[in-house]
Amino acid sequence: MRAICFEDRLIYDDNRPEPAPTNGDAVVRVHLAGICATDHHITRGYMGFRGIVGHECVGTVETGPHEWLGKRVVCEINCVCRQCAQCQSGLSNHCSRRTVMGIRGRDGCFADLVAVPIHNLHEAPNAITDEEAVFVEPLAAAMQVVKQVPIERRMNVAVVGSGRLGLLVAQVLATTGCRLEVIGRNPQSLLFCEKRGIRARLISDTPAKADRDLVVDCTGSPDGLAAAIGFVRPRGTIVLKSTHAEPSAVDLAPIVVNEITVVGSRCGPFADAIHALARREVDVSSMVSRSYKIERWAEAFEASQQAGNIKVLLKINPR
Ligand SMILES: [Zn+2]
Ligand SMILES: [Zn+2]
Repeated sequence: MRAICFEDRLIYDDNRPEPAPTNGDAVVRVHLAGICATDHHITRGYMGFRGIVGHECVGTVETGPHEWLGKRVVCEINCVCRQCAQCQSGLSNHCSRRTVMGIRGRDGCFADLVAVPIHNLHEAPNAITDEEAVFVEPLAAAMQVVKQVPIERRMNVAVVGSGRLGLLVAQVLATTGCRLEVIGRNPQSLLFCEKRGIRARLISDTPAKADRDLVVDCTGSPDGLAAAIGFVRPRGTIVLKSTHAEPSAVDLAPIVVNEITVVGSRCGPFADAIHALARREVDVSSMVSRSYKIERWAEAFEASQQAGNIKVLLKINPR
């Protein structure tokens, strides 16, 4: 099968062996997949990953239990043991023995076929297209912010970073009715926000005034935490959504002095993300800038790093 793999660099292999599913796995034929910042971080050494990359996809179950065959699905990425202390206490995303699709110890979805535990499958309802379904994983991660921090309407909230994840987090926060502002670098993304009634401004035009109740760092950069510290009020909260290969060197004294709460935030609820898309609460289709056939993966990866493009998709077996 065709696959995009990271060895010591990204390579395209059109003769990769098909996945050998273990008991409890389904095999999904991938229609579309989304390129995400994490995929780029992996190419710079994040998690020391080797294998087929990719973790955002929609596809059809080709092998697996009878009741799933032929179903259009999206797949949770954390593959867990269901037995360890974390799994038993309902925190299976933190399973101590987990593998993560295309990120940690398990092949990902930039390939014709991907093996996924059956428990990780969610059926994609007819109300959402493949182009929308491919956003379920990152949208779920965006929704995790409101799961972890209760948002009230009177709160002043800033999202720092207007990339793919920043725009999803901003749209999720906008549904809460809080006083929201997106602070970013890319004029096109800021325009995307303004079209949806979300206040947005350039970071270069934003004075570092420490008056926000909540700041969400979606910069994907080691500098994001320092920027967030500059915007959050004393006793306020910072949510960190950025993962990067490079460690960040930040002066932590302001966190102590201003008694700031820092919340790490990773994967989120798939069912909520599917419902939000089906109810049209979040607009993801306008975030798709370009789509490339898998053979044109190198152009796709390059395009996904260009500031003018928001989301870039790989067409693997499009319907
Ligand atoms: Zn991702
Ligand atoms: Zn476990």
